Amino acid sequence: MDCIFCKIGNKEVPSKILFEDDSYIAFLDQNQETLGHTLIVPKTHYNDITEIDNYTLKGMYDIALTLTPILMKKLGCTGISYLINYGDSQEVKHVHLHLLPDYLKSKSNKTVDEVYDMLKEEN
Ligand code: 5GP
Ligand code: ZN
Repeated sequence: MDCIFCKIGNKEVPSKILFEDDSYIAFLDQNQETLGHTLIVPKTHYNDITEIDNYTLKGMYDIALTLTPILMKKLGCTGISYLINYGDSQEVKHVHLHLLPDYLKSKSNKTVDEVYDMLKEEN
């Protein structure tokens, strides 16, 4: 099957792997929407979230919980958004869980005056 995530799972295509076992692979998204943007992928091909069984979904969730403190400690993110796209929102039709680190606190360490000035700035 011509599926990019199957190819990453069986190492036909290289990726920056953060975690791997017999059933799953977790690697950095090639498009780092936020610093540390990671994808968790079952090695078995399921098209999307409607096809996956509870056991496999739980495995993805467990890996998310393992990676969460690592991302927070090593990258200093202050939160993480967990995202599964479906339908037209899903670009790659092999189910995957996005981990999108947030840097909300580090981005907001400005005074109220500084933020207000930024927002009121012309243009
Ligand atoms: P989706 O919209 O399907 O939820 O997101 C697919 C994600 O896969 C996108 O964030 C995209 O950047 C990522 N992606 C697509 N192809 C590759 C690839 O070959 N390698 C890596 N590391 N990420 C990919
Ligand atoms: Zn696949």
